[in-house]
Amino acid sequence: MKLIADMMLGRLARWLRLYGYDTLYGIEEDDEILRTALEEGRMLLSRDEELVKRAKKLGIRAILIDSNSFEAQIDELKREGFEFAELFPANARCPKCNGLILPVSKDEVRNKVPESIYQKYDEFYICTNCGQIYWPGRQWEEMIRIDRKIRNKGKPNVG
Ligand SMILES: [Zn+2]
Repeated sequence: MKLIADMMLGRLARWLRLYGYDTLYGIEEDDEILRTALEEGRMLLSRDEELVKRAKKLGIRAILIDSNSFEAQIDELKREGFEFAELFPANARCPKCNGLILPVSKDEVRNKVPESIYQKYDEFYICTNCGQIYWPGRQWEEMIRIDRKIRNKGKPNVG
């Protein structure tokens, strides 16, 4: 399933990419959003009721996101059947550009990350599109914390 998100949904779009959803984001013009959705067979996610109506008239699958809050937006998508499992990096796409992320050897990032990072970590990933390098540092841990919250919400507490 390929997606396109409107400009109101930046945070949601980045997280959908982390969860492995091919998500276009960054197109400002409504007409261009609709054209791209049609051409590339993408489902539209939008906060804009009018845009969703226009999309549906054109035969584009579209979901109107009601909430402003990120967590509630995730809940809305869960109700639409979206699944959120196995966060970054197993199936992730680059949150910056939607490119595919692959593991790379430590050698390959030798001169591309700060020396302290190189010394401290053994696990690295690279975006095949924009070249951004990822490692399990502080930002990553923060993502995992939010991921747990997203995925465990609504489940009973065990232990
Ligand atoms: Zn990238």
